[in-house]
Amino acid sequence: WSKLKSGLARTSSSLTTGITAIFTKRKLDAATLEELEDVLIQADLGLDTAMRITETLRRDRFDKEISDEEVRAVLAAEVEKVLAPHAVPLTIDPTKKPHVVLVVGVNGTGKTTTIGKLSAELTRAGRSVMLCAGDTFRAAAIDQLRIWGGRVGAPVIAREPGADAAGLAFDALKQARDEGRDVLIIDTAGRLQNKAELMAELGKIVRVLKKQDPEAPHSVLLTLDATTGQNALNQVEIFGQVAGVTGLVMTKLDGTARGGILVAIAAKFKLPIHYIGVGEGIDDLEPFDAADFAKAIAG
Ligand code: GDP
Repeated sequence: WSKLKSGLARTSSSLTTGITAIFTKRKLDAATLEELEDVLIQADLGLDTAMRITETLRRDRFDKEISDEEVRAVLAAEVEKVLAPHAVPLTIDPTKKPHVVLVVGVNGTGKTTTIGKLSAELTRAGRSVMLCAGDTFRAAAIDQLRIWGGRVGAPVIAREPGADAAGLAFDALKQARDEGRDVLIIDTAGRLQNKAELMAELGKIVRVLKKQDPEAPHSVLLTLDATTGQNALNQVEIFGQVAGVTGLVMTKLDGTARGGILVAIAAKFKLPIHYIGVGEGIDDLEPFDAADFAKAIAG
Protein backbone atom coordinates (compact mmCIF):
# COMPACT_ATOMS: atom_id res chain seq x y z
CA TRP A 1 0.00 0.00 0.00
CA SER A 2 2.72 2.50 0.87
CA LYS A 3 4.48 1.89 -2.44
CA LEU A 4 1.20 2.23 -4.34
CA LYS A 5 0.34 5.39 -2.45
CA SER A 6 3.73 7.00 -3.06
CA GLY A 7 3.84 5.64 -6.60
CA LEU A 8 0.56 7.30 -7.46
CA ALA A 9 1.43 10.51 -5.62
CA ARG A 10 1.79 12.50 -8.82
CA THR A 11 -1.48 11.31 -10.32
CA SER A 12 -3.17 11.99 -7.03
CA SER A 13 -1.66 15.41 -6.48
CA SER A 14 -2.58 16.63 -9.96
CA LEU A 15 -6.15 15.54 -9.31
CA THR A 16 -6.48 16.76 -5.75
CA THR A 17 -4.77 20.10 -6.32
CA GLY A 18 -7.25 20.73 -9.10
CA ILE A 19 -10.18 19.66 -6.95
CA THR A 20 -9.08 21.71 -3.94
CA ALA A 21 -8.64 24.79 -6.12
CA ILE A 22 -12.19 24.46 -7.39
CA PHE A 23 -13.96 23.59 -4.18
CA THR A 24 -12.47 25.81 -1.54
CA LYS A 25 -15.60 27.27 0.04
CA ARG A 26 -17.59 27.17 -3.14
CA LYS A 27 -21.00 26.04 -4.13
CA LEU A 28 -21.43 23.26 -6.61
CA ASP A 29 -22.72 25.08 -9.66
CA ALA A 30 -22.47 24.68 -13.42
CA ALA A 31 -19.10 26.46 -13.53
CA THR A 32 -17.46 24.36 -10.79
CA LEU A 33 -18.78 21.17 -12.36
CA GLU A 34 -17.32 22.22 -15.69
CA GLU A 35 -13.94 22.93 -14.08
CA LEU A 36 -14.03 19.62 -12.26
CA GLU A 37 -14.78 17.75 -15.48
CA ASP A 38 -11.71 19.36 -17.08
CA VAL A 39 -9.46 18.28 -14.19
CA LEU A 40 -10.73 14.71 -14.44
CA ILE A 41 -10.27 14.57 -18.20
CA GLN A 42 -6.76 16.00 -17.93
CA ALA A 43 -5.91 13.21 -15.50
CA ASP A 44 -6.71 10.74 -18.32
CA LEU A 45 -9.69 9.19 -16.54
CA GLY A 46 -11.65 9.19 -19.77
CA LEU A 47 -14.66 11.24 -20.80
CA ASP A 48 -17.28 8.71 -19.67
CA THR A 49 -15.96 8.37 -16.15
CA ALA A 50 -15.38 12.12 -15.85
CA MET A 51 -18.96 12.79 -16.90
CA ARG A 52 -20.38 10.16 -14.59
CA ILE A 53 -18.60 11.70 -11.61
CA THR A 54 -19.85 15.19 -12.39
CA GLU A 55 -23.35 13.84 -13.06
CA THR A 56 -23.40 12.10 -9.68
CA LEU A 57 -22.41 15.35 -7.99
CA ARG A 58 -24.91 17.37 -10.00
CA ARG A 59 -27.72 15.00 -9.07
CA ASP A 60 -26.91 14.82 -5.35
CA ARG A 61 -25.35 18.14 -4.44
CA PHE A 62 -26.22 20.83 -6.97
CA ASP A 63 -26.34 24.37 -5.54
CA LYS A 64 -25.03 23.20 -2.15
CA GLU A 65 -21.70 23.90 -0.51
CA ILE A 66 -19.38 20.99 -0.87
CA SER A 67 -15.88 20.34 0.46
CA ASP A 68 -13.01 18.96 -1.58
CA GLU A 69 -12.97 15.89 0.72
CA GLU A 70 -16.54 15.11 -0.30
CA VAL A 71 -15.69 15.50 -3.97
CA ARG A 72 -12.67 13.22 -3.55
CA ALA A 73 -14.83 10.62 -1.83
CA VAL A 74 -17.20 10.60 -4.83
CA LEU A 75 -14.19 10.35 -7.14
CA ALA A 76 -12.78 7.37 -5.22
CA ALA A 77 -16.14 5.60 -5.15
CA GLU A 78 -16.72 6.04 -8.89
CA VAL A 79 -13.19 4.97 -9.81
CA GLU A 80 -13.50 1.89 -7.64
CA LYS A 81 -16.84 1.06 -9.23
CA VAL A 82 -15.30 1.17 -12.71
CA LEU A 83 -12.22 -0.84 -11.76
CA ALA A 84 -13.55 -3.47 -9.36
CA PRO A 85 -15.06 -5.87 -11.93
CA HIS A 86 -11.72 -5.94 -13.78
CA ALA A 87 -9.35 -6.50 -10.87
CA VAL A 88 -8.74 -10.17 -11.53
CA PRO A 89 -5.68 -12.07 -10.30
CA LEU A 90 -3.58 -13.96 -12.83
CA THR A 91 -4.27 -17.63 -12.26
CA ILE A 92 -1.81 -20.32 -13.19
CA ASP A 93 -3.47 -23.64 -14.00
CA PRO A 94 -1.57 -26.30 -12.02
CA THR A 95 -2.78 -29.06 -14.35
CA LYS A 96 -0.88 -27.53 -17.25
CA LYS A 97 2.75 -28.51 -17.37
CA PRO A 98 3.58 -25.89 -18.31
CA HIS A 99 1.04 -23.09 -18.14
CA VAL A 100 2.26 -20.90 -21.01
CA VAL A 101 2.27 -17.13 -20.51
CA LEU A 102 2.94 -15.05 -23.62
CA VAL A 103 3.96 -11.49 -22.80
CA VAL A 104 3.30 -8.88 -25.49
CA GLY A 105 3.56 -5.10 -25.67
CA VAL A 106 5.37 -2.24 -27.34
CA ASN A 107 9.13 -2.16 -26.76
CA GLY A 108 10.00 -0.20 -23.68
CA THR A 109 6.66 -0.72 -21.94
CA GLY A 110 8.24 -3.11 -19.44
CA LYS A 111 7.79 -6.65 -20.81
CA THR A 112 11.16 -7.99 -19.74
CA THR A 113 11.04 -6.30 -16.33
CA THR A 114 7.51 -7.57 -15.70
CA ILE A 115 8.58 -11.10 -16.68
CA GLY A 116 11.44 -10.85 -14.18
CA LYS A 117 9.18 -9.64 -11.37
CA LEU A 118 6.50 -12.20 -12.19
CA SER A 119 9.00 -15.07 -12.25
CA ALA A 120 10.26 -13.98 -8.86
CA GLU A 121 6.73 -14.07 -7.48
CA LEU A 122 5.93 -17.45 -9.02
CA THR A 123 9.24 -18.94 -7.89
CA ARG A 124 8.59 -17.71 -4.35
CA ALA A 125 5.21 -19.46 -4.52
CA GLY A 126 7.03 -22.71 -5.23
CA ARG A 127 6.44 -22.91 -8.96
CA SER A 128 9.19 -23.94 -11.33
CA VAL A 129 9.52 -21.34 -14.04
CA MET A 130 11.26 -21.34 -17.41
CA LEU A 131 11.80 -18.21 -19.49
CA CYS A 132 12.02 -17.87 -23.26
CA ALA A 133 13.82 -14.88 -24.84
CA GLY A 134 11.39 -14.52 -27.74
CA ASP A 135 12.38 -10.92 -28.47
CA THR A 136 15.10 -12.17 -30.77
CA PHE A 137 15.55 -8.80 -32.48
CA ARG A 138 17.21 -6.94 -29.67
CA ALA A 139 20.41 -8.37 -28.20
CA ALA A 140 19.82 -6.17 -25.14
CA ALA A 141 16.43 -7.79 -24.50
CA ILE A 142 18.00 -11.25 -24.55
CA ASP A 143 20.74 -10.10 -22.12
CA GLN A 144 18.18 -8.48 -19.82
CA LEU A 145 16.10 -11.63 -19.65
CA ARG A 146 19.22 -13.67 -18.87
CA ILE A 147 20.00 -11.32 -16.00
CA TRP A 148 16.47 -11.70 -14.60
CA GLY A 149 16.63 -15.48 -15.04
CA GLY A 150 19.89 -15.58 -13.10
CA ARG A 151 18.41 -13.42 -10.36
CA VAL A 152 15.37 -15.62 -9.80
CA GLY A 153 17.01 -18.95 -10.64
CA ALA A 154 14.93 -19.66 -13.76
CA PRO A 155 16.54 -21.15 -16.88
CA VAL A 156 16.37 -18.91 -19.95
CA ILE A 157 15.95 -20.47 -23.38
CA ALA A 158 17.58 -18.13 -25.90
CA ARG A 159 19.27 -18.04 -29.27
CA GLU A 160 21.49 -15.58 -31.04
CA PRO A 161 19.91 -12.25 -32.09
CA GLY A 162 18.00 -12.54 -35.36
CA ALA A 163 16.89 -16.16 -34.79
CA ASP A 164 13.32 -17.20 -35.59
CA ALA A 165 11.18 -16.40 -32.53
CA ALA A 166 8.52 -19.01 -33.28
CA GLY A 167 11.09 -21.79 -33.63
CA LEU A 168 12.59 -20.74 -30.33
CA ALA A 169 9.19 -20.69 -28.60
CA PHE A 170 8.44 -24.15 -29.97
CA ASP A 171 11.70 -25.55 -28.58
CA ALA A 172 11.21 -23.79 -25.25
CA LEU A 173 7.76 -25.34 -24.84
CA LYS A 174 9.13 -28.77 -25.69
CA GLN A 175 11.89 -28.42 -23.13
CA ALA A 176 9.52 -27.06 -20.47
CA ARG A 177 7.19 -30.04 -21.03
CA ASP A 178 10.08 -32.51 -20.93
CA GLU A 179 11.23 -31.01 -17.64
CA GLY A 180 7.71 -30.86 -16.18
CA ARG A 181 7.91 -27.11 -15.54
CA ASP A 182 4.89 -25.35 -14.03
CA VAL A 183 5.16 -22.14 -16.02
CA LEU A 184 6.80 -21.06 -19.27
CA ILE A 185 6.93 -17.29 -19.78
CA ILE A 186 7.70 -16.11 -23.31
CA ASP A 187 9.02 -12.63 -24.04
CA THR A 188 8.22 -11.18 -27.48
CA ALA A 189 9.32 -8.34 -29.75
CA GLY A 190 7.06 -5.29 -29.76
CA ARG A 191 7.86 -3.31 -32.86
CA LEU A 192 4.72 -1.38 -33.47
CA GLN A 193 6.29 0.36 -36.49
CA ASN A 194 5.38 -2.57 -38.68
CA LYS A 195 1.98 -3.90 -37.70
CA ALA A 196 1.87 -6.56 -40.43
CA GLU A 197 5.20 -8.04 -39.33
CA LEU A 198 4.21 -7.91 -35.68
CA MET A 199 0.96 -9.69 -36.46
CA ALA A 200 2.73 -12.32 -38.56
CA GLU A 201 5.32 -13.04 -35.90
CA LEU A 202 2.93 -13.22 -32.94
CA GLY A 203 0.53 -15.29 -35.02
CA LYS A 204 3.30 -17.73 -35.88
CA ILE A 205 4.38 -18.06 -32.24
CA VAL A 206 0.82 -18.86 -31.21
CA ARG A 207 0.43 -21.37 -34.05
CA VAL A 208 3.57 -23.34 -33.20
CA LEU A 209 2.71 -23.41 -29.49
CA LYS A 210 -0.68 -24.93 -30.36
CA LYS A 211 1.02 -27.77 -32.23
CA GLN A 212 2.15 -29.07 -28.85
CA ASP A 213 -0.72 -27.84 -26.68
CA PRO A 214 -3.92 -26.73 -28.44
CA GLU A 215 -4.79 -24.53 -25.44
CA ALA A 216 -1.48 -22.67 -25.37
CA PRO A 217 -0.81 -19.86 -24.71
CA HIS A 218 -2.97 -20.06 -21.61
CA SER A 219 -2.43 -16.40 -20.78
CA VAL A 220 -1.52 -13.50 -23.06
CA LEU A 221 -0.41 -10.55 -20.97
CA LEU A 222 -0.16 -7.07 -22.45
CA THR A 223 2.16 -4.61 -20.74
CA LEU A 224 1.14 -0.96 -20.94
CA ASP A 225 3.29 1.98 -19.90
CA ALA A 226 1.20 4.40 -17.80
CA THR A 227 3.44 7.33 -18.76
CA THR A 228 2.26 7.09 -22.37
CA GLY A 229 -1.27 8.12 -21.38
CA GLN A 230 -3.77 7.94 -24.22
CA ASN A 231 -1.40 5.90 -26.47
CA ALA A 232 -2.04 2.96 -24.20
CA LEU A 233 -5.63 2.86 -25.46
CA ASN A 234 -4.43 2.29 -29.05
CA GLN A 235 -2.04 -0.39 -27.90
CA VAL A 236 -4.82 -2.38 -26.23
CA GLU A 237 -6.76 -2.15 -29.47
CA ILE A 238 -3.89 -3.31 -31.68
CA PHE A 239 -2.53 -6.10 -29.48
CA GLY A 240 -6.06 -7.23 -28.75
CA GLN A 241 -6.53 -7.87 -32.48
CA VAL A 242 -3.07 -9.29 -33.07
CA ALA A 243 -2.49 -11.46 -30.04
CA GLY A 244 -5.80 -12.15 -28.29
CA VAL A 245 -4.83 -10.45 -25.04
CA THR A 246 -6.29 -12.11 -21.93
CA GLY A 247 -5.08 -9.65 -19.30
CA LEU A 248 -3.22 -6.41 -18.63
CA VAL A 249 -0.25 -5.25 -16.62
CA MET A 250 0.05 -1.47 -16.24
CA THR A 251 3.69 -0.52 -15.62
CA LYS A 252 5.43 2.66 -14.44
CA LEU A 253 2.57 3.92 -12.29
CA ASP A 254 5.28 5.35 -10.08
CA GLY A 255 6.32 8.82 -11.12
CA THR A 256 3.54 9.63 -13.59
CA ALA A 257 0.59 11.99 -13.32
CA ARG A 258 -1.26 9.88 -15.88
CA GLY A 259 -2.29 6.90 -13.75
CA GLY A 260 -5.93 7.74 -14.47
CA ILE A 261 -5.49 6.08 -17.87
CA LEU A 262 -6.06 2.74 -16.17
CA VAL A 263 -9.63 3.82 -15.42
CA ALA A 264 -10.23 4.78 -19.07
CA ILE A 265 -8.81 1.43 -20.22
CA ALA A 266 -10.92 -0.57 -17.78
CA ALA A 267 -14.07 1.28 -18.81
CA LYS A 268 -13.41 0.85 -22.52
CA PHE A 269 -11.98 -2.67 -22.87
CA LYS A 270 -13.23 -4.54 -19.81
CA LEU A 271 -10.14 -6.75 -19.81
CA PRO A 272 -8.82 -8.28 -16.58
CA ILE A 273 -6.15 -6.12 -14.95
CA HIS A 274 -3.76 -8.46 -13.20
CA TYR A 275 -0.85 -6.39 -11.94
CA ILE A 276 0.56 -2.91 -11.70
CA GLY A 277 4.25 -1.97 -11.84
CA VAL A 278 5.35 0.59 -9.28
CA GLY A 279 9.13 0.60 -9.78
CA GLU A 280 12.06 -1.13 -11.44
CA GLY A 281 12.88 -3.50 -8.59
CA ILE A 282 12.09 -7.19 -8.26
CA ASP A 283 9.33 -6.55 -5.67
CA ASP A 284 7.72 -3.67 -7.55
CA LEU A 285 4.88 -5.66 -9.10
CA GLU A 286 1.62 -5.58 -7.15
CA PRO A 287 -1.56 -7.57 -7.71
CA PHE A 288 -4.12 -5.04 -8.86
CA ASP A 289 -6.55 -3.93 -6.14
CA ALA A 290 -9.35 -1.60 -7.25
CA ALA A 291 -10.15 -0.09 -3.83
CA ASP A 292 -6.49 0.64 -3.03
CA PHE A 293 -5.93 2.16 -6.45
CA ALA A 294 -9.02 4.36 -6.17
CA LYS A 295 -8.01 5.53 -2.69
CA ALA A 296 -4.45 6.21 -3.82
CA ILE A 297 -5.45 8.41 -6.74
CA ALA A 298 -8.22 10.29 -4.95
CA GLY A 299 -5.73 11.38 -2.27
P1 GDP B 1 10.49 -4.02 -22.78
O1 GDP B 1 11.25 -3.37 -23.89
O2 GDP B 1 9.02 -3.97 -23.00
O3 GDP B 1 10.97 -5.39 -22.44
O4 GDP B 1 10.74 -3.08 -21.50
P2 GDP B 1 11.77 -3.25 -20.30
O5 GDP B 1 11.31 -4.31 -19.37
O6 GDP B 1 13.14 -3.36 -20.84
O7 GDP B 1 11.57 -1.88 -19.54
C1 GDP B 1 11.92 -0.64 -20.11
C2 GDP B 1 12.39 0.30 -19.00
O8 GDP B 1 11.30 0.58 -18.12
C3 GDP B 1 13.48 -0.29 -18.12
O9 GDP B 1 14.40 0.74 -17.81
C4 GDP B 1 12.76 -0.74 -16.86
O10 GDP B 1 13.58 -0.73 -15.72
C5 GDP B 1 11.65 0.30 -16.77
N1 GDP B 1 10.46 -0.20 -16.05
C6 GDP B 1 9.72 -1.31 -16.27
N2 GDP B 1 8.67 -1.38 -15.41
C7 GDP B 1 8.73 -0.29 -14.61
C8 GDP B 1 7.91 0.23 -13.54
O11 GDP B 1 6.89 -0.32 -13.09
N3 GDP B 1 8.32 1.43 -12.98
C9 GDP B 1 9.43 2.10 -13.42
N4 GDP B 1 9.74 3.25 -12.84
N5 GDP B 1 10.20 1.65 -14.43
C10 GDP B 1 9.87 0.47 -15.03
